[in-house]
Amino acid sequence: MERCDIVSYQLGQKIRELKPYDPISGQFEVRLDANESFFPVDGKLLEEMKAALARVDFHRYPDPYAVRLIEGFAAFYGVSPDHVTAGNGSDELIGVITSSFLEKGDVIVTLSPDFSMYRFYASIYEVKNIDVSKEGSLKIDVDEAIARIREAGARMVIFSNPCNPTSLGLSKEDVHKLVTSVDALVVVDEAYMDFWDQSILSQAHTYENVIVLRTCSKALGMAALRLGFAVACDAITTALRAVKSPYNVNSISQEMGTVLFSHPDLIEKRRDAIIASRVSLEAGLRALSDRVDGIECIYPSCTNFVFVRMKDAKAVFERLLSMSVAVRLMGNHLRISAGSEQENEKVLRCLEAILQ
Ligand SMILES: *Cc1c(COP(=O)(O)O)cnc(C)c1O
Repeated sequence: MERCDIVSYQLGQKIRELKPYDPISGQFEVRLDANESFFPVDGKLLEEMKAALARVDFHRYPDPYAVRLIEGFAAFYGVSPDHVTAGNGSDELIGVITSSFLEKGDVIVTLSPDFSMYRFYASIYEVKNIDVSKEGSLKIDVDEAIARIREAGARMVIFSNPCNPTSLGLSKEDVHKLVTSVDALVVVDEAYMDFWDQSILSQAHTYENVIVLRTCSKALGMAALRLGFAVACDAITTALRAVKSPYNVNSISQEMGTVLFSHPDLIEKRRDAIIASRVSLEAGLRALSDRVDGIECIYPSCTNFVFVRMKDAKAVFERLLSMSVAVRLMGNHLRISAGSEQENEKVLRCLEAILQ
């Protein structure tokens, strides 16, 4: 075919250099790189999910408001369903909020290090991003953050609490102080709050400027379903339901999530076991750091992973991969998800062999 020289198309600047998101690919014996739950879906829960699949009306569009799913979520967390919006993972909600609640020229403040998707969406939606670095300790200095948010004239602030990747948390008093000291919309991403006790979820609807995000992907062990939730006051909830794509949560996920929330005891039991695993992994790492060189700092975790500063993080990461253990490399840190007893033992054993 003849090449047409008149019309020529080039990718825009902001996407020209982008690479598709690439979680570690390949087969590894131990996968501790994505902060997923180590519990498979099995037994009674799996049976009920299979039965629920048969109830899906595949020829119909999903319920746009995911009413039954949201009722299950709301009952489990003790909030009103009127203040909850469901999303195709909290990731979708972060995208929808960033694209719709901000206008041209508005400023979004992010803190770093933090979940990389916040800055990604800010860039894709071309909002101005001011990034405030958490100096030194990697803790959020709430007074400093408030000053920087005001100075920036921010319309929106987003951060994870507890934080991925640092594993550190901000007390609910500090979150309250931040929320009530700025004019901006504050999005508090509580993806890991099931593992800690400083949630503001039950107060979210009492603020005019807060959205709390939760997910089924971490403590609840359902990353495959892509289910996230936003909890906020009436006005924000109405806006969020209006701007989201109408059929954003598919019928299968709605049904499976509804089954999940009908098992609060199972959710809590598994969450507690994941916390116990993280406590044990963290203790194992501390004991190891007494015996070998190379571990510089183990951050006290309130999540299901441990964040570790290493002398030679990249080399250690690659040696672990060669031993069929996948963790997450982030600069001079490793982020290691809590796994089953055998998985934790294996990562500790391999680290010991590498660092000796
Ligand atoms: C994993 C994670 C999410 C993603 O949640 P999904 O519901 O799976 O999209 C959101 N925020 C943080 C901080 C996370 O670590």
